Amino acid sequence: MRLQNKKILVTAAAQGIGRASALAFAEEGAEVIATDINFDKLKELSGTKGITVKKLDVTKVSEIEELSREIGRVDVLFNVAGWVAHGSVLDCNEEIWDRSMEINVKSMFLTIRCFLPSMISHGKGNIINMSSVASSRKGTLLRCAYQTSKAAVVGLTKSISADFCSKGIRCNCIQPGTIDTPSLRDRIASNSEMDPEESMKMFQARSPIGRFGKAEEVAKLAVFLASDESDFIHGTEMVIDGAWSA
Ligand code: NAD
Repeated sequence: MRLQNKKILVTAAAQGIGRASALAFAEEGAEVIATDINFDKLKELSGTKGITVKKLDVTKVSEIEELSREIGRVDVLFNVAGWVAHGSVLDCNEEIWDRSMEINVKSMFLTIRCFLPSMISHGKGNIINMSSVASSRKGTLLRCAYQTSKAAVVGLTKSISADFCSKGIRCNCIQPGTIDTPSLRDRIASNSEMDPEESMKMFQARSPIGRFGKAEEVAKLAVFLASDESDFIHGTEMVIDGAWSA
């Protein structure tokens, strides 16, 4: 019960890392508000002890504000929502660039602006943002817009920490390597430039330890960051990547 008496908001909790984290938080005694744009999928979590499900599109400020009026202050905000665009800078157009920035980083700016003031008034709060090894940590093939947006998440994280750590706010980000989630499987299946077997080999080759990570492994790190056990960890990137960036 490492998260007892903590109210935690998770974005993109319908599948993958967000879902595994919502379940892990609830198992540790947290009151979890699990949100996602895909409410049909998210509903699979309803009925789980400790979890309330709410539809939320993280790009819509009106929906974020409505949710905040409904649920009030949260102890932990876990910004998970993200979208992977494939391609180099020459494959990227303005639409892909803007969408990457909107879902992967502007969404965090919006949720943080909404939930941070009540954390400051309370004198304590914890924000965890989902970055990636594909960010300022490591140049990654064919991830131009994604990588740029995930590097911006690092900047946002450090900025929040610098401005508000003295007010009791912690802000850190997580940088996973390749994690076996539904969207990874979709990307492998739908890559028109590579056959699925070749694509799978490319992803596996990233990891010197020879396997993908599991969403549950990232969830364990999220539990640690959400708990008071990590109280001295501020403004940093927590890498979980099977030695990809080592
Ligand atoms: P996923 O891609 O399998 O699922 C993404 C979820 O985000 C879906 O449930 C989707 O409905 C939701 N979503 C999409 N747009 C949304 C919006 N506008 N508002 C709210 N929800 C929205 O999840 P994943 O692979 O576990 O990735 C989760 C996060 O971790 C992402 O930010 C991703 O970039 C990051 N990440 C993933 C990996 C990986 O290998 N899977 C590696 C590094 C970082």
